Amino acid sequence: MLYGALEVGGTKMVCAVGDESGQILDQVSIPTSTPDETMPKVIEYFKSKVDPSLPDEEKIRALGVACFGPVDVRKNSKTYGNILNTPKIAWRNYPMLKTLQDALGGLPIGFDTDVNGSLLGEATWGCAKGLQDAVYFTIGTGIGMGAISSGKPVHGMLHPEAGHLAMSIVPGDDYKGHCPSHGACFEGMASGPAIEERWGKKAKDLADKPEVWELEAKYIAQALTDIIYTLSPQKIILGGGVMSHTQLFPLIRKYVLEYINNYIDTKELHNINSLISPAALNGNQGIMGALKLAENATIE
Ligand SMILES: [Zn+2]
Repeated sequence: MLYGALEVGGTKMVCAVGDESGQILDQVSIPTSTPDETMPKVIEYFKSKVDPSLPDEEKIRALGVACFGPVDVRKNSKTYGNILNTPKIAWRNYPMLKTLQDALGGLPIGFDTDVNGSLLGEATWGCAKGLQDAVYFTIGTGIGMGAISSGKPVHGMLHPEAGHLAMSIVPGDDYKGHCPSHGACFEGMASGPAIEERWGKKAKDLADKPEVWELEAKYIAQALTDIIYTLSPQKIILGGGVMSHTQLFPLIRKYVLEYINNYIDTKELHNINSLISPAALNGNQGIMGALKLAENATIE
C-alpha cells in the first residue's frame, strides 16, 4: 500500500511516497518561497501519484502533511489545516490542508504539526516505539515540541508551544533573549539564533567553548524538567540543528537530574541516557511521521 508524505518546512517542502512499513520509495525537495510559487510544484508531485492512468497499486491511498506551526489542528474548526500567525508573512493564514484537498479530489489527508509528525515517526518506527507518552523537541532556528499522551497526539485548544516556556535566568547571564514576543523564553535563550547573537558566532564555530554548551544545557534542562513534571513522558527525543552538537546530551541529562533533585524516582530517570535521547531515524523521522499520518487518515 502506498502513501504520500509532505513535510512543510520553512526552507523546503519534502514530498515523498512510501509504504506502510515506513520505507521511502521516492522523494523530492522543493524550496519554500511563496505559496504561489511553491504550492503548484507540490500539487503537481502528488497529482502525478493519484493519476487515473496509473495502475491502482501505484497510486497513493492517502496523504499525510506535517506542517510548521502555528497551525490549526482542531478537526472541527472552520480553519482546520490553516497555517496561523507565522512570522513567515507569505504563509500567514494560508489554507494548506484545503488547498491540497481541493487539488487532490477525495484523497484522505492527515494533518498535524511538524513536531508531532516527527514524534509519530519515532513512536512508530524509532526510539519511542511502543510508548504511550513521549515528547519530541526540535531545537534549531526555533524551538518546537510535539507530544503524545496516552498514545494520542496532544492538541488541545491549539497545540503545545513548549518552545516558549518561561525560563529562570542562569545567574551571571545578562543576555536579553531573542524571542520577539517574550525575550528570554526557552526559544529566546536557547535557539540557534540566540546562541549566535549571545556569543557573536555560529554554534558550529563554538564547539571548543565549554561555557557555551554548559549554559545551553542549563536552559534546555530547565524546559525538559518542566515537561517531565507536567506530561510525565517515558521518552524525550531531542532533534534539530542545535542538538547535532552531541556534547549537549550528557550535560542536559546531568542538569535534569540536578534540577529534579530526587523529587521523582522512576526507572526512566534511573536510565536517563535512554529517557533523553537523540532522534533515531537518521533525519527521516519527519517524513516517516507524515507517512504514518497518511495511513492514519485512511482509518479515521
Ligand atoms: Zn517566546
